[in-house]
Amino acid sequence: MHALNTSPHRPLSVQVIGRTLPLLAGILCLLFISSPALEARKVSRVIIDAGHGGHDPGAGKNGVEEKKLTLNVALHLEKLLKAKGIPVTMTRSNDTFISLAKRAEIGNEYSNAVFVSIHFNANRDARVYGVETYYYGSQGRKLANHVHLRLLSHLKTRDGRIRQQKNFAVLNQTKSTAILVECGYVSNTSERSRCNSYAYQYSCAKAIADGIWAYKTYN
Ligand SMILES: [Zn+2]
Repeated sequence: MHALNTSPHRPLSVQVIGRTLPLLAGILCLLFISSPALEARKVSRVIIDAGHGGHDPGAGKNGVEEKKLTLNVALHLEKLLKAKGIPVTMTRSNDTFISLAKRAEIGNEYSNAVFVSIHFNANRDARVYGVETYYYGSQGRKLANHVHLRLLSHLKTRDGRIRQQKNFAVLNQTKSTAILVECGYVSNTSERSRCNSYAYQYSCAKAIADGIWAYKTYN
């Protein structure tokens, strides 16, 4: 009967589209709203800066030299980051002297890079020990938070806190997100022997790598 063709009901396809479109719009909207939290932060490369080197031994006591400790941590960190597929540039890979300006210059060759300067500390007061993380800039602070938290949990040492530092050349001359990590005090007898061990140096590198990964992944 012709009457069937004049039914007030809309064709099935229109009904389905009518119900599906708002649903799709809702899903897209949810995806759009939630995407910034899920989106990884762009880290194109990590510049690993082993502090001191060559004629500059850095801090030292009883034959333990900062420049050797920093290089060992840097080499561990290089391997750990490469294993995660993160491109890496070393400011030095052996016992050579590199000026602070040159270190910053190496970092500035790349955009969206993260710059991590590795150091060990010393104090006239031999009782002082622990780890400190320095940053410059708001992104640096976020990276410092991630790394410092993991240094404390991996190394189980005193919390020397996270501090803003505007006067470190490797922090204020780099365009990248930059931090400087003081991994422990060689002036403290028990921390010096820990700092000089393979296990401690590896743990420092692991904490830094995990912190960078968290910074890359979470806001
Ligand atoms: Zn140093």
